[in-house]
Amino acid sequence: MAGSFELRGKRVLVVGLARTGVATSLFCAARGAIVTATDTRTESAIGEALRQLRAAGVLLELGGHSKEIFLKQDLIVPSPGVPADAPLLQAARAQGTTIWSEIELADRFLKGRLIGITGSNGKTTTTSLIEHILRSAGVPTILAGNIGTPLISVVEQTNDRTITVAELSSFQLELIETFRPYISVFLNLTPDHLDRHHTFEGYGTAKARIFEKQTESDSAVLNADDPASTKYAPAKPQVFWFSRKQRVAQGAFVRDSEILFRSDGMEEFVLKIQDIPLAGAHNVENVLAAVAATRLAGADAAAIAKGVRSFSGVEHRLEFVAEIGGVRYYNDSKATNVDATLKALDAFPGRILVILGGKDKGSDYTLLQVPLREKAILALLIGAAADKIEKQISGSVAIERAGTIERAVETASHAARPGDVVLLAPACASFDQFENYEHRGRVFKGLVYQLGRQAASTSSGRG
Ligand code: ADP
Repeated sequence: MAGSFELRGKRVLVVGLARTGVATSLFCAARGAIVTATDTRTESAIGEALRQLRAAGVLLELGGHSKEIFLKQDLIVPSPGVPADAPLLQAARAQGTTIWSEIELADRFLKGRLIGITGSNGKTTTTSLIEHILRSAGVPTILAGNIGTPLISVVEQTNDRTITVAELSSFQLELIETFRPYISVFLNLTPDHLDRHHTFEGYGTAKARIFEKQTESDSAVLNADDPASTKYAPAKPQVFWFSRKQRVAQGAFVRDSEILFRSDGMEEFVLKIQDIPLAGAHNVENVLAAVAATRLAGADAAAIAKGVRSFSGVEHRLEFVAEIGGVRYYNDSKATNVDATLKALDAFPGRILVILGGKDKGSDYTLLQVPLREKAILALLIGAAADKIEKQISGSVAIERAGTIERAVETASHAARPGDVVLLAPACASFDQFENYEHRGRVFKGLVYQLGRQAASTSSGRG
């Protein structure tokens, strides 16, 4: 990896005290840095972590940020939620202060090898799948990054034999310098987070930085079916492709419902599409990317097939919840953008009652018109974006202004017939009505389980 970095005696400012910021502050303090941590939130809003930070000698600036503190640092580590062009960061940058994301700092201390996964959709699924395949093949692995466990907090667990499998967001990649995965995966690129990156180009460029420091001895895995991301194919690392639609020069692809891996002109069978335990064509893409990455990491075809078959998926990603009265309920709360919702609709043959809405991210919901017309029988709208969505999809499907997820589930359960699918795939962020998408997904599942209990007691009452 990039080689160590001396933190002792350095003045480090950590901006934002969510999980990543807390872990970064503790990491730097433990290595002798003079750490200040700052957050716009007040003491009571941050809570428990403050005790740990104080015990570690971290200085705190809460309830706001002052320029004076930003201007006297050697290193500033903003949390992923802080825009890279925030004025105080610009001011520090202008006077030459180093500004790194937490993954850049972590990479300087990690031992062993690193596989990095980025893209607009499918990161968590593919990262989890790669880690699962390698672990079940006997490789010592660590799952980390944007997936819940910050990279910086797993540094101590790594050794020369470990492979760290890390999910990477554009916000993290935006502020790197020498960060270098030995295998990088760029899944796809669709408009998302334009509120932060301003342009689609800026967003793509931030993600493509994953390749920036890779050398000829490293590998990059890209999606041959996605022109938006293929244009970022790098020159230095060896490029391996994945494709559902065409044979690739090197990499993983589908032929006659089978997944094959091709390298140096040799093709080998890995597994049948029907053996993939996850629904939807998009998950075939995730599996193809994982096949390429794990094959490159040294797993053999049989071990990869075994790993894929035993993968149970990730919560809130097209997660099957229950079948009640012949109606199947799926939780895809993580479908927080239009593209993910398109993929979710595509995963079912038809007769879908879909719950849409939440906090708008400047999305174009007209893209949903055709699949809604073809696949859906009812769209149930919730949350703040309902007006905009209604305008943009009107005429394509029957619409019900449910308002809340409770009403949406109740209405859907009355309207659905055996064989139908009730799908939560909102195409929006959740923050208008929920803490986050996990909260939204759990509320949805709770409502579905409740329906299941009611159905069971009604039928046993009848019996
Ligand atoms: P990420 O970590 O990039 O947000 P997830 O694996 O959490 O990706 O999936 C996010 C959403 O995108 C889910 O709704 C999921 O069903 C959908 N999805 C998963 N993989 C893909 C893919 N390859 N292309 C498009 N959508 C996908």
